[in-house]
Amino acid sequence: MKVTFLGGAETVTGSKFLVETDHSRILIDCGLFQGYKWLRERNWQPFPVDVDKLDAVILTHAHLDHSGYIPVLYKRGFRGPVYTHHATRKLCQILLTDSGHIQEEDARYYSKHKLGKHAHPEPLYDRRTAENSMELFHAIDFDEPVEIGDIRFYLQPAGHILGASSIILEAENKRIGFSGDVGRFDDVLMNAPRPLPELDHLLMESTYGNRQHDTIDPAKQLADVVCKVAKNGGALLIPAFSVGRAQALQHLLVKAMAEGRVPKMPIYLDSPMAIKVSDVFCEFSDQHRLNAEQCDRMCNEVTYTRTVEESKALAGQTYPHIIIAGSGMATGGRILHHFKRLLGNSKTTVLFTGYQAGGTRGAKMLEGVNAIKIHGDWIPVRAKIETLSGLSGHSDYLKLSQWLKDSDLKTSTQIHLVHGDAEALEGFRVHLQENTPFPVNVAEYGSILQV
Ligand SMILES: [Zn+2]
Repeated sequence: MKVTFLGGAETVTGSKFLVETDHSRILIDCGLFQGYKWLRERNWQPFPVDVDKLDAVILTHAHLDHSGYIPVLYKRGFRGPVYTHHATRKLCQILLTDSGHIQEEDARYYSKHKLGKHAHPEPLYDRRTAENSMELFHAIDFDEPVEIGDIRFYLQPAGHILGASSIILEAENKRIGFSGDVGRFDDVLMNAPRPLPELDHLLMESTYGNRQHDTIDPAKQLADVVCKVAKNGGALLIPAFSVGRAQALQHLLVKAMAEGRVPKMPIYLDSPMAIKVSDVFCEFSDQHRLNAEQCDRMCNEVTYTRTVEESKALAGQTYPHIIIAGSGMATGGRILHHFKRLLGNSKTTVLFTGYQAGGTRGAKMLEGVNAIKIHGDWIPVRAKIETLSGLSGHSDYLKLSQWLKDSDLKTSTQIHLVHGDAEALEGFRVHLQENTPFPVNVAEYGSILQV
């Protein structure tokens, strides 16, 4: 058996690992390259395998850096099954469709403003292709065994987000684990990741390979911010990612108000995508920590604004109030309309709840700029800018190595580090080498592992 590292190696995006035996060929994860242009350009290169010779795809979870390339494979003729957990299929329905829509919009924008090198820029895939590609999905449960030719595999829960799985695969008398993205043991919402069984090889994620999470309680941090907002009577704007982060905020805010730790005020979830994800969230109660009552409360005590008209009507609401809206780094979405309206007001508070990539509006606001550009206009920033740490969906390196120690790995299990930037991969390699018995290396992009 051999494994080729087609993506998610030496970077955090584009996860794709090709597994080949004498009789079968499958792809583990099918992610988009994101971020820098030189990485995104890889999405346009020819796929190195004839799609007719690919038997199946297995997805660890729905984030686009693991699933977003499925419509490209579909466009290029792949019609095999895509195996994944039921929850991942539901989330992919939401995320892939939105991804297709955004790419159509981007192509239209580039065409209109004559940007880029193509006279008629094409989207990588459109919304329709993304929707059609959903016909390939075969949803399965955790621990349900599946056979593809001479390969057998099952999924086991990895925390992180709904449906997120580690994949345990067997063929030719060898067993390989693919960690997927590994959630936290103390996540606000999700259950802890399950330790791994005995393995010969493990492809291990390294997102936080060189970083440690703060020990500050996010619920307390959030309550402090809300209390200040209640006192000054302004709006609290929270840019948030639709999957996981928006639901964690919903739950923490509703809980703090129910327990009387913060004054009551209206909470709005102004993101059609996050609203759909919140609905899916309550369907999969076995994967998260909320009971039925907490789930109901999370949904019922937050006002969902689905239409553009409902979103615009928020401008007429009384203060103080809280608006959660996409996108998480303020790169797009409805949060921008609220920014235009409220950033110039010194009573407004903006709360960032996750990593802000360099160059984004979120990163600039955290740097303390006086104005940001939105839809071509410069908007003065007089609002207070706050950050909430502690809601990351990944374990840090200490918890990841604890997870490995709690697993049934053999001292000979070979660990291949993937899904991290250069410093994280190297930091984690050194940490594991010094603190665990396992042989460890950093997987190189394009390299082949003979198993
Ligand atoms: Zn993920």
